[in-house]
Amino acid sequence: MEKVWDCIVVGGGPAGLSAAINLRQRGKQPLVLSAGENLLRKAEQVDNYLGLPGLTGSEMMDQFLRHAHHLSVEIRTAQAGNIMPLGDTFLVNAGGEILTCRSVILACGVSKAKTVPGEEEFLGRGVSYCATCDGMLYRGQEIAVWGLGPDAPDEAAFLASIGCHVHYIAQKKPESLADGIEFLQGRVDAVEGAQTVEHVNVGDQKLPVAGVFILRASVPAGALVPGLSLTEEGFVSADSKKQTSIPGLFVAGDMCGKPLQVAKAVGDGLVAALSCAEYLDGTAQ
Ligand SMILES: Cc1cc2nc3c(=O)[nH]c(=O)nc-3n(C[C@H](O)[C@H](O)[C@H](O)COP(=O)(O)OP(=O)(O)OC[C@H]3O[C@@H](n4cnc5c(N)ncnc54)[C@H](O)[C@@H]3O)c2cc1C
Repeated sequence: MEKVWDCIVVGGGPAGLSAAINLRQRGKQPLVLSAGENLLRKAEQVDNYLGLPGLTGSEMMDQFLRHAHHLSVEIRTAQAGNIMPLGDTFLVNAGGEILTCRSVILACGVSKAKTVPGEEEFLGRGVSYCATCDGMLYRGQEIAVWGLGPDAPDEAAFLASIGCHVHYIAQKKPESLADGIEFLQGRVDAVEGAQTVEHVNVGDQKLPVAGVFILRASVPAGALVPGLSLTEEGFVSADSKKQTSIPGLFVAGDMCGKPLQVAKAVGDGLVAALSCAEYLDGTAQ
């Protein structure tokens, strides 16, 4: 039978790992999805985290990961695409694999990406963030790939290999673009259509396509979970218990606002985990 996780924690930074270890300490089974390199690893020295002065960001992340492994937290390297609430559960697209869980904690850090006009409107109707999940829907059709993340050329190659006619849009042509893929320099300014996507606007050009794969290193919060309330600054809105506008979906760390600091992210992770555990126990008030 398909496994139903107690909680899927999206993001393996300080907030996500703090949430995961606190869920474990409450006897819950979380799965952490981590899309890859963590920003904190870029910090040369972190001097403002209580009790651990002078560590590099990378050393600090290693300590956090050791703690998570010690508590048997399961961590998978995968990017969460869209997250859909479905009754008492959530379906989470983890790099093409659909996982089921009873609750979600978002801890994706700050997304520098803003959505473009039409992107959220046409999500699931021509806009996709995952080539392996949705590629087969566009076999034999013209599609655009907007390559913003490091894996985008590979995803474009996959789409071409299954028979999609791929137009690769980026500011700079990747060295490794597969044969048969058309390169178009620029950026997607808007996605337009009627019931489904009909074209993307790239500068003055309207490129007719049945679908567009927007492949960023991180997915903007509003696009990750359609219908999620955001603040004016683009952070995810949450109450003091880190509950978002969607029951069973919590948020922690940089994703829910300032200060953008490790200590706050770790504290948020704790609060989100405790609220989530209460929710799972059916005692949320
Ligand atoms: C150069 C630098 C120096 C810094 N120095 C300090 C300092 O000295 N002191 C301090 O307190 N703070 C410092 N910070 C800030 C600190 O790193 C952040 O506040 C902290 O990492 C936030 O933790 P987080 O878990 O919320 O997000 P992040 O650490 O950003 O972690 C989010 C994780 O989620 C992953 N992710 C994103 N989207 C998805 C998805 N869709 N699916 C799966 N995974 C996803 C990302 O890959 C990332 O690993 C520094 C940051 C930088 C960049």
